[in-house]
Amino acid sequence: SNRVQDRRTFDEAGSAARVEALVEQGRKGEFDNAPDSDPDLPGNHIWGREIADRMVESKLGDDLVAEARVESAEALEQIVARGVAAADGWQALGADERARILYRAGERLEARRGELLEVMGSECGKTLDQGDPEVSEAIDFANYYAMLGQVIGQVDGATYKQQKLTAVIPPWNFPVAIPAGGTLAALAAGSAVIIKPASNSARSGAIMIEALWEAGVPRDVLQFVQFADRALGSKLVADPRIDRLILTGAYETAVNFRELRQDLPILAETSGKNAIIVTPNADLDLAARDVVQSAFGHAGQKCSAASLVILVGSVATSKRFRGQLLDAARSLKVGTPENLETQMGTIITAPDGKLLRGLTTLSAGEKWLIEPKPLKSDSPLAADKKGNNKLWSPGVREGVKRGSEYHLTEYFGPILGIMTAATLDEAIDMVNEIDYGLTSGLHSLDRDEMALWLDRIQAGNLYVNRGITGAIVRRQSFGGWKKSAIGAGTKAGGPSYLYGLGEWEDAPVSA
Ligand code: GLU
Repeated sequence: SNRVQDRRTFDEAGSAARVEALVEQGRKGEFDNAPDSDPDLPGNHIWGREIADRMVESKLGDDLVAEARVESAEALEQIVARGVAAADGWQALGADERARILYRAGERLEARRGELLEVMGSECGKTLDQGDPEVSEAIDFANYYAMLGQVIGQVDGATYKQQKLTAVIPPWNFPVAIPAGGTLAALAAGSAVIIKPASNSARSGAIMIEALWEAGVPRDVLQFVQFADRALGSKLVADPRIDRLILTGAYETAVNFRELRQDLPILAETSGKNAIIVTPNADLDLAARDVVQSAFGHAGQKCSAASLVILVGSVATSKRFRGQLLDAARSLKVGTPENLETQMGTIITAPDGKLLRGLTTLSAGEKWLIEPKPLKSDSPLAADKKGNNKLWSPGVREGVKRGSEYHLTEYFGPILGIMTAATLDEAIDMVNEIDYGLTSGLHSLDRDEMALWLDRIQAGNLYVNRGITGAIVRRQSFGGWKKSAIGAGTKAGGPSYLYGLGEWEDAPVSA
């Protein structure tokens, strides 16, 4: 169709413009601190070493966060008014000019990759191997949404009503990619943005936002806030001048925001309790690797993480699988991110409440195969601001019963539970009776099993013979089902996302 044609053409035009711009920049010698111009390329041990050395002492973004602090309702009122006033100019620029700025945002994020990695490590315990693809994801969002904004701007025969003001409230766990994704989408769709990065990772958000300002997004169009108290956050969302809310966080948080203002369209990706099913027809070595990476990457602090592995039939008693899984989990080097050997970093704050319970208590019939333990460390990055230890080794429990607390609860930490099922159908039932439906995995090389699973499983993001974290912009759009989402069912990194940020008559592309 024409539309498909349009999209390809604009994408190619976008890429060509980007290459041209890069060549031009290179000719002028403008690649100041871009890693590409550096002999120490990303992935190079020396480059990583330099970044890691700065993590412990990092103060990056402190001044920006201090400036962003909003103390009063009057100050917030001015910010909202400024955003509304700036929106007209941003819309008047047109889709192509906005896209040009957003492509440049991708370049600025690339130029600041090292700083982003430094501050993510310092604030969130994010290791370089987790942070590096996160920066790439933010850059992918810039290029993809810029391109999509151009497509929306040029589709014939449909009316797309842009919104003036979008509030973006991201979580701390992907402190660059998630705030960047929401912000870039709203900007591409022609809206001004007020963004409030999570206070735990506000410095990472600040550097990302600064990169967008450097690219030419006006400061009134993209305003960065931190609130002196939570009530101001509610006040922002309740303000009728906010047209859209982009939220990633706990389901309960999203429900609270929805109750504040029933008429506000919310694009929310919320909690997850995700499982990987392994059948006797799986490549068991691959399955063990993918389960361990999905469960313990970033210490399990991803909405997408695997918290359960369900072993079907003979896999339940397979010594080979169990051996591989436990060896791999035990061999993980747990530590702080300035140590380049670290494979699993810290928990964001010393565990308490639900997560502490998950790390320390078992239900009837359960047994630790690997018991999680707090670890001692001299690194300042191993303790939170109050001095409490946030370094824990991973845990693997077996004997998780259907309907038990562990089966149904999201913990958001480095714990994996093993369940067993007689058949694939039974395993699917076990997944589907969980309230959430974010990511789900199947390891099987059997086509019929894949078809059955794809037909029955209830989750927004399905992965076969692959880990279940690390969705890729444009190829694997990301969003939840059931209690893992609130709103229109739009998916980040896919075409429906931008359309969901405005209003359509005759929507040209289905979600
Ligand atoms: N998009 C991320 C992934 O695919 C997860 C985001 C989240 O944890 O909220 O792993």
